[in-house]
Amino acid sequence: MTLIDLRSDTVTRPSPAMRKAMARALVGDDQYGEDPSVNALQETVAGLLGKEAALFVPSGTMANQIALKAFTQPGDDVIVGKQSHAVFHETGAAAANCGVQFTEIGEDGLFSAEQFRAAVKPRGHAIYPPTTLVEVENTHNRSGGQIFAEDDMISICAAARSLRVATYLDGARLLNAALATGTSAKKLAQPFDLVSVSLSKGLGAPVGSVLAGCKDAIEKAVRYRRMFGGAMRQSGLLAAAGSFALAHNVDRLAEDHGNARIIAERLAECPGVAINLAATRTNIIVFRLTPPGNSAARVVQACREDGVLLLAFSETVLRAVTHLDVDAAACRRAAAVIAAASSARVH
Ligand SMILES: *Cc1c(COP(=O)(O)O)cnc(C)c1O
Repeated sequence: MTLIDLRSDTVTRPSPAMRKAMARALVGDDQYGEDPSVNALQETVAGLLGKEAALFVPSGTMANQIALKAFTQPGDDVIVGKQSHAVFHETGAAAANCGVQFTEIGEDGLFSAEQFRAAVKPRGHAIYPPTTLVEVENTHNRSGGQIFAEDDMISICAAARSLRVATYLDGARLLNAALATGTSAKKLAQPFDLVSVSLSKGLGAPVGSVLAGCKDAIEKAVRYRRMFGGAMRQSGLLAAAGSFALAHNVDRLAEDHGNARIIAERLAECPGVAINLAATRTNIIVFRLTPPGNSAARVVQACREDGVLLLAFSETVLRAVTHLDVDAAACRRAAAVIAAASSARVH
């Protein structure tokens, strides 16, 4: 039985055509700025996101850490949405590397400019930790790939600028948001000082993220990438995969969104399952088992026995993610398997 792996869109493997592009890549020592494939990728992403410069980094987690390091001092306060990647999925890196604290606001990873203004702690106060950075995650992973409203991003960034708070967009899946809303990635990235996109999620490259921003911010990022051990050498082999992904795998993200809808709509009909169907517009499906129901661990196990891999986020919350290695037929089959496992009686 071939497994249908919906644990994440990171599980994709480079296609034969992508591997060919990697094998052909021209390379040089990137720390001398001499890797033509890295330089080409960075230029492409700077253009795509409408920023002055860009920097290839080994992972989205490192991109997020570099952003914190570039804009904060130890003891600072960083405002984020609830359940952000930075808080949940980076093993406490923000505290260990940058010495910052997070203030989580809003709901489901989303928040408004009013909520942001209310949470900002001023500089120069005898007691408060100064808020120096606000981070938006778009799409938002743990809330089911939810899209952050463009108007909110614009007004949050305008408020931040007036309060001298830096702005960072964790856009690991920004291209999913762009496709789902029909708004260009450049427009979505425009209000932010610094933006990251992942190449190794739905785009299907094996490794890497790219940071984009003004020259000043990217110069700092170059230093902190080195400090975090992420400066590489002939990384053009990896960058070539990223460039291939941007050339071939962006528009097809729409298929992933359609396939996620197949699963979400099936689960919405399921007794014992709660899902925010209206918010499921990209490639992530997050759903909750309602009492008296199964445990997430039990559902994961039952699905695995039927050839479908999912991730448990908690005792009752599960995630499935569609990507370029699963087609519509596989997703229909997965939907049936997940629905059966989720609504099965507990014995
Ligand atoms: C996956 C992800 C990251 C981290 O990317 P890695 O390459 O896995 O380190 C950061 N932010 C978000 C929103 C993500 O989904």
